[in-house]
Amino acid sequence: MFSNAKKIIPSGVNSPVRYFEPYPFFTKKANGAYIWDEDNNRYIDFCNGYGALLLGHRRKEIINSVSTQLSKGTLYCTPTEAEIELSKLIIENFPSIDKVRLVNTGGEATLTAIRLARGFTKKKKIIKFEGCYHGAHDSVLVKAGSGSAHNGISVSDGGLDEVSKNTLVAEYNNIEDLEKIIKKNKDIAGVIVEPILANMGLILPEKNFLYELRKITKENDIPLIFDEVVTGFRVAPGGAQQHFGIQPDITTLAKALSNGFTISAVGGRKEIMDLLSPGGKVYQASTFAGNPVSVSAAISSIKTINKIKNKIYSKLERYNLFFSTALDDMATDMRIPHQINFTASMLQFFFTNMPVVNYKTSKKADAKKFQILFKTLLKQGIFIAPSQFEVVFLSDAHSETNLNRALDAYHAALKSVKN
Ligand code: PLP
Repeated sequence: MFSNAKKIIPSGVNSPVRYFEPYPFFTKKANGAYIWDEDNNRYIDFCNGYGALLLGHRRKEIINSVSTQLSKGTLYCTPTEAEIELSKLIIENFPSIDKVRLVNTGGEATLTAIRLARGFTKKKKIIKFEGCYHGAHDSVLVKAGSGSAHNGISVSDGGLDEVSKNTLVAEYNNIEDLEKIIKKNKDIAGVIVEPILANMGLILPEKNFLYELRKITKENDIPLIFDEVVTGFRVAPGGAQQHFGIQPDITTLAKALSNGFTISAVGGRKEIMDLLSPGGKVYQASTFAGNPVSVSAAISSIKTINKIKNKIYSKLERYNLFFSTALDDMATDMRIPHQINFTASMLQFFFTNMPVVNYKTSKKADAKKFQILFKTLLKQGIFIAPSQFEVVFLSDAHSETNLNRALDAYHAALKSVKN
């Protein structure tokens, strides 16, 4: 299949991080915690749609809502009552959001957020943090993480220097660096950040980093954009902003918003959001925006999450603590230099003896060893994202038995890394 795909699909894949040596497995189906390849091998899925599948594959509430919607049509390109319902749910979960526009992908949401910040401030430059990934568009494909860090592409061929020169890059977890950039540049339209960095492996914000970031941006009248494409609904029903108690000016959401359907959202303060066309002069448009099938999936996702919120987050935190601690003990016993970063339902293992706190320290971890780890896990039926710069995601569908199976597989995989 890969030979056939390669002939007609560039590199045989429709998104770069899906590729791994010698070729990726092709998927036949998925259900709950599992994904099956075309040879009928079953894997426990810890990639989980790169974080989208907080509730696991084919969650029944979502499948039921989508099935009902399918019988009523798949695309209208007119407003629907369901869009009002979904927007209300998003606003109730995210108090920093007064108004929200539904779009399709994470990248489209961050593109719109940045354009809004520029339109609002009438300024040009944005600040992003080294290693944060916000999608594959020119303004943010500068020192980006995820697939672009893995492939060594930070500024893409074909990307315009005229655009990327307006993106200034600060070090994550380094507030002095941000302060210096803000002092030197009077033309800052916005600061965009992943409140928990999930695209250089997993990197947690240090104690006061996000509070200081909010304080400095407020003092300088710079809109703060929280890119919660990964963290929204995943770390709390109200995302990382609820978890840390910080209100950004603009928020982007995707992934766990719909648990596996194509939809994203950009929301924020009323006076910023009202600049969007047609009422305002910040242009944004899309044929598929507010697609009724995706909207029904998102409504059902949020309702399900809200219904089980008292159980799901504490359960996944408990699972993660158990899993990450066991992994840590295992690697320590085997005398393998390592770091494990973990929070909520996300974790990553790094082959390094240095704390991983930013782009540079993440890049220092041994990515070759990670590849051996990944492949040995896969052979044993454990599917994690094929890159050091991604994250291992737990879902509500995982069981304790799944975790114990995965720990056995990590044990064998760490042994083969050592040999
Ligand atoms: N922002 C973050 C934090 C992401 O992790 C991603 C993708 O992984 C994006 C934005 C881009 O989302 P999409 O791939 O849907 O364009």
